[in-house]
Amino acid sequence: MSTIPHSKKRVCYYYDSDIGNYYYGQGHPMKPHRIRMTHNLLLNYGLYRKMEIYRPHKATADEMTKFHSDEYIRFLRSIRPDNMSEYNKQMQRFNVGEDCPVFDGLYEFCQLSAGGSVAAAVKLNKQASEICINWGGGLHHAKKSEASGFCYVNDIVLGILELLKYHQRVLYIDIDVHHGDGVEEAFYTTDRVMTVSFHKYGEYFPGTGDLRDIGAGKGKYYAVNIPLRDGMDDESYESIFVPIISKVMETFQPSAVVLQCGADSLTGDRLGCFNLTVRGHGKCVEFVKKYNLPFLMVGGGGYTIRNVSRCWTYETSVALGSEIANELPYNDYFEYFGPDFKLHISPSNMANQNTPEYLEKIKTRLFENLRMLPHAPGVQVQPIPEDGAVIEDSEAEEKVNPDERLPQRDLDKRIQHENEYSDSEDEGEGGRRDNRSYKGSRKRPRIEKGQEGIESDLKKEEDIKSEPKVMLRRE
Ligand SMILES: [Zn+2]
Repeated sequence: MSTIPHSKKRVCYYYDSDIGNYYYGQGHPMKPHRIRMTHNLLLNYGLYRKMEIYRPHKATADEMTKFHSDEYIRFLRSIRPDNMSEYNKQMQRFNVGEDCPVFDGLYEFCQLSAGGSVAAAVKLNKQASEICINWGGGLHHAKKSEASGFCYVNDIVLGILELLKYHQRVLYIDIDVHHGDGVEEAFYTTDRVMTVSFHKYGEYFPGTGDLRDIGAGKGKYYAVNIPLRDGMDDESYESIFVPIISKVMETFQPSAVVLQCGADSLTGDRLGCFNLTVRGHGKCVEFVKKYNLPFLMVGGGGYTIRNVSRCWTYETSVALGSEIANELPYNDYFEYFGPDFKLHISPSNMANQNTPEYLEKIKTRLFENLRMLPHAPGVQVQPIPEDGAVIEDSEAEEKVNPDERLPQRDLDKRIQHENEYSDSEDEGEGGRRDNRSYKGSRKRPRIEKGQEGIESDLKKEEDIKSEPKVMLRRE
């Protein structure tokens, strides 16, 4: 491994050619089509030649209930547009129906999103790759028993649980414009996962992610929130991202990193309010990559889809350490990229409400919290399980020959497991809700009495496999 040059990594990329066909419904801002656009653009840049492309397996119910409740997954597996009327009560209970609508193939969509992130984590655990990418993942709002913000199944939590089988400490970083609440909540009471979320805060979905929310129990100081105002530009973002992530790396010393690359933090996003360019967003990827840790990159929000595909294509090139031209190559969706047909975008002239003083103040506060961490925590070395820890389904992944053009699905070849129905994928954002005031409804992650959360559950690998659906319960 040491012979691999600094910037050149083995990159595995997970994509299912069906993903772009899932449709949330008319007028809904979440468009899985953006993942297909990204894929097509990066193919036409020739990036497929430099990485291994996999079609993810469909995550099984069994895999999804490592985090989600059985009842919730059973519900997602059963609900369809044509039988919705029989499920009124459950739809309310699981928050499905409005921002998180029932659509054709919802469950499969979730399975593909989750399947990609889990398979990617398995690949990293096997040390068969240094960087894995799943643009169909990143659905950070999904809760244990609740859909939220266009997200139904939390592929990120599932991927991190997989990484924890081999890694004592996993760092999660979230650069979506929305707070990464689902992931934070899942790991709020453990010191084995540090969650770091940079997001717009104040009158904004989902309403959580206050500077003072720092984790609880053993997880105290292991949740890091960077609440930001409208108009964050590249320079401001870098001025806070770099020092915070540097300090986090130094104090937490993770052995694997997951980066949620939500592209709704870009300038001009339909639901966002930041002013980042593709270059500024991509700098975060570049910076994290430099640490040379097993690295999982996932998608997330992003509602101005031409810019989402620009951003994730560029970030794929950053992962590969391979420069690509600003002039876009011809591709199936070329007309989306007019009038300039360039990869890079310019910031708008919107005001940046994050003053250097404000950012400095946040940084100081967060550094104080990070100083509370034991330096270089947990010297104990966790034995790496020989085998068996790897989810068997990972073997069912199909490598795609890039020369065959777009992978055509061949479902029949796939081994279907009994419990294969699981659902998961979606990103979710506050959508129509985004501008609503969440004042008063702001909630901190819940911790149940008599429950140390996931912490105790993570001690043994067997625990992860069987019981610990119990992380944090929602009210
Ligand atoms: Zn978002």
